[in-house]
Amino acid sequence: MANYGMAFDYKLCINCHACEVACKEENGIDLGAKNHRLWIKEDGETKGDFWNLERGDIDFIQMQCQECEDAPCLKACPNEAIYRDENGIVRLHKDKCDLLMHCMSACPYGARYVDEKQKVTDKCIFCADTRLARGETTTACQITCPAKLRYFGDLDDENSEISQVLKSREYFTLKPEANTKPKLFYLK
Ligand code: SF4
Ligand code: SF4
Repeated sequence: MANYGMAFDYKLCINCHACEVACKEENGIDLGAKNHRLWIKEDGETKGDFWNLERGDIDFIQMQCQECEDAPCLKACPNEAIYRDENGIVRLHKDKCDLLMHCMSACPYGARYVDEKQKVTDKCIFCADTRLARGETTTACQITCPAKLRYFGDLDDENSEISQVLKSREYFTLKPEANTKPKLFYLK
């Protein structure tokens, strides 16, 4: 049993998309698919013209399910298909999902998408069915990131790397006004 979360030293991101590719590979998602479990959002504007483009003040923000403690998607599903597992991860009973998509409308982060192959809604689950099920302690995105900016681990273990990082650094969460209590943290 754990209470998994993730922290991002997001200013270190070089927008290489290696995390996205690793995630798709791990979860059997077509490389060209547009909607999937994680993506990088560009926040800000580039400077200059076409021939002399500068990065300007752009931040690259790692986006995925925020593993809300108070999860609107879970509350919105009339079939009770969405649940929280023993490791604090918001999961789906796939046999109960009939694609009503109330969960997608309820999620403030746009984190859920339709898995066309399985005909269910899906999202990041921290590699619970693949890497964690094999006894590994890292996610595919985390282990692949060349900037090593992703910290994944047990928030309830005060000795875990993520707990230590959150103790020593300031951070913020996305859309605090939604009162979802995310378990993903962006380091300042
Ligand atoms: Fe649900 Fe969206 Fe929160 Fe993830 S981010 S737990 S999909 S409401
Ligand atoms: Fe950013 Fe790391 Fe993803 Fe590359 S792998 S886009 S550096 S978070």
